[in-house]
Amino acid sequence: MRSHYCGELNASNISQEITLCGWVHRRRDHGGVIFLDVRDREGITQVVFDPDRADSFALADSVRNEYVIKLTGLVRARPEGTINPNMRTGEIEVLGTSLEILNAAQTPPFQLDEHQSVGEDIRLKNRFIDLRRPEIQQKMRFRSKVTSVLRRYLDDNGFLDIETPILTRATPEGARDYLVPSRTQQGSFFALPQSPQLFKQLLMVSGFDRYYQIAKCFRDEDLRADRQPEFTQVDIETSFMSEEQIMAMTEEMITNLFKELMNIDLGSFPRMPYSEAMETYGSDKPDLRIPLTLITVSDLMAEVDFKVFSGPATDPKGRVAALKVPGGNSLTRKQIDDYTKFVGIYGAKGLAYIKVNDKSNLEEGLQSPIVKFLPVEVRGALLERLDAQDGDLIFFGADSAKIVNEALGALRCKLGEDMDLYTCEWAPLWVVDFPMFEETSDGGITAIHHPFTAPSCSPEDLKANPLTALSQAYDMVLNGTELGGGSIRIHQASMQEVVFELLNISEEEQEEKFGFLLDALKFGAPPHGGLAFGLDRLVMLMTGSSSIRDVIAFPKTQSATCLLTQAPGEVSEKQLKELSIRVRKPVAE
Ligand code: ASP
Repeated sequence: MRSHYCGELNASNISQEITLCGWVHRRRDHGGVIFLDVRDREGITQVVFDPDRADSFALADSVRNEYVIKLTGLVRARPEGTINPNMRTGEIEVLGTSLEILNAAQTPPFQLDEHQSVGEDIRLKNRFIDLRRPEIQQKMRFRSKVTSVLRRYLDDNGFLDIETPILTRATPEGARDYLVPSRTQQGSFFALPQSPQLFKQLLMVSGFDRYYQIAKCFRDEDLRADRQPEFTQVDIETSFMSEEQIMAMTEEMITNLFKELMNIDLGSFPRMPYSEAMETYGSDKPDLRIPLTLITVSDLMAEVDFKVFSGPATDPKGRVAALKVPGGNSLTRKQIDDYTKFVGIYGAKGLAYIKVNDKSNLEEGLQSPIVKFLPVEVRGALLERLDAQDGDLIFFGADSAKIVNEALGALRCKLGEDMDLYTCEWAPLWVVDFPMFEETSDGGITAIHHPFTAPSCSPEDLKANPLTALSQAYDMVLNGTELGGGSIRIHQASMQEVVFELLNISEEEQEEKFGFLLDALKFGAPPHGGLAFGLDRLVMLMTGSSSIRDVIAFPKTQSATCLLTQAPGEVSEKQLKELSIRVRKPVAE
């Protein structure tokens, strides 16, 4: 129907007759001349209708925002003084000669350029309109480019794109499963994949050697800002490649992507052991753009007459850490109170601090509600360890190591953002040497990555010291966000059985849930490993979006519903009968 996209016209088209199809973005009546801004996915062009052509003029007068139109006209230079340098098509306009209304539109629930005045709920409910916003269109296009560049890299490197099932068995990645009842096997359920993990391992056992898939994954967990119940992974698995080789190859894939689409040079990624990341940044995905670090001061606080510090300082699972904020002295009481509330989210019971007014005067030069509890020698040793200067502020975390790390780790990022402490724009790294397991609150152990991750030690050593054993897992982190993670996998059934045992999975359960994997490992499984990148988060970071929902065409809300389709929805009695399912109404109803 069209000869050109609206957004691609420029001075080189002057004097050409063109045909455009698109939406009326705006209609303006300028004293006898009608201006229509016509929009399509490439941008907006200004079209002028004058009364000389009565038919098209009358039609142009009758159209309203979001009508779908087709028009023919002549491209001409905009008159002197009306050139819009902020618009791609700002040098030209089209003199409309004929106009056809392809479809009318009701008044939209919000105008595209006034989307901010309505709540996100209204935008998600009318997502088909929201998606017309040029900003979101840009993001969707960018996302498409990202997948195309990644695919190209993987195709060029001999990876095969292989699909794996959506109706499957549970694939443990630490979340709840989405279940689908089976009609043909009544009382049985499929689970939607939390990831294609086991299938990609089986593909390695089958000899495909290099696999990838842009894969939908489903995890029923309580949603946080950057999570969605269904999300997309760039899922990768390889055989006969070492941890080093896999990391090098995928690092190259990501650096190429940033270079090609954004002309950004990420450089080569530093490596950091998990233990160092937790100790220094309180996080396994440290944001290295922020120069603040956590410094352990447990040893200094062990003897002080202040239980809040001495307790965690002498508890083997406790930690007392300090976070020095250079120049932080200027923070107001109110700001400090707000930060205290903020760390409360992470379970911290308070946020002790010291303002360093005059470091040469340990009696009077430190301003703090807690300094009176610290002997002068401790004050001196503390300032020395932190290399504190006049004008600095020192925050403290004192609790279980877990709470201190989470609270101060998050505070570090918040301060970085609030005080704009960033030292660079992009800070990638690999976090390596993760432990195999961590303790759960009920005293059991759980896999940090997933139960198919290979340990760095023998089965005997793993059994002897499960909580200190390291794994061959690696995470790629960028600006405090985990872009992707993976591991070398267990490829021997005997090792896999040891891990299952340590995770307290009985032999019957192993057989029932993972019998197929254990079998596969016994029939010639090659050494293999891989990783998966979170595509949504990657695109979110690259486009500087504040919400993951901005880079997903049809996202779900925080309560895991789709406002557009009203999913999940009730089903008919007939459908339930076919499945032999009777719904127990939730108690509240
Ligand atoms: N399956 C893992 C995940 O979804 C990634 C991997 O180990 O390859 O996190």
